[in-house]
Amino acid sequence: MTGYDPSEFLMLSGIQHFQFCERQWALIHIEQEWEENVLTIEGSHLHEKADDPFIREKRKDILKVRALPVHSTKIGLTGICDVVEFHADVNGVSLQGEEGTYLPIPVEYKRGKPKRDQSDVLQLVAQAICLEDMLYCPVPIGSLYYHEIRRRVDIEITEELKNQVRNTAKRMHDYYKRRHTPRVKTGKHCQSCSLRHICLPELLTKESVAAYMKRMMAE
Ligand code: SF4
Repeated sequence: MTGYDPSEFLMLSGIQHFQFCERQWALIHIEQEWEENVLTIEGSHLHEKADDPFIREKRKDILKVRALPVHSTKIGLTGICDVVEFHADVNGVSLQGEEGTYLPIPVEYKRGKPKRDQSDVLQLVAQAICLEDMLYCPVPIGSLYYHEIRRRVDIEITEELKNQVRNTAKRMHDYYKRRHTPRVKTGKHCQSCSLRHICLPELLTKESVAAYMKRMMAE
């Protein structure tokens, strides 16, 4: 396949759900189950600040664009970057209405602090791939801003990370095409999962739904 048709695009933000738990991703993006819990509500409030659409501001050599829609036909993902900073750079590209050339740096806002898993990093790298595909220029770094520690962490967009994103996106598309929801695999992550009550991890790993229903009816 040379590329994805826009009708096949999946949500870029899903990459973090997929990384957190493939089943959670399938419940949200294939079965469309969604239950807001504290984590998602806090997260969306934080995003509201960054997602003020189309605000464009310029300070010295940096042009900031908020809520920039991005996509990539190569990995078949689409989404919105919280903020993209365009830094004046001779290796960059020209932008409409601006003098000189610029290199984009995606900046993603997160609640909490840096995570142990790579979900935030892969989401950022997916944004970088989209920007590269759309603007035909390299995106060597991106940044994650963590609300809890009030600090920005720069991430080098390596070929290795990009390959990880490409492989993850391919698996997401494969599951989506087959409408496949992976089985429950419980772990520590289930404690902070917004779909815990829908997924019923304790229940499904111990007994089948039919057995559970039979037991409940008998009680
Ligand atoms: S409860 Fe656990 S297994 Fe179920 S979707 Fe959430 S993280 Fe995945």
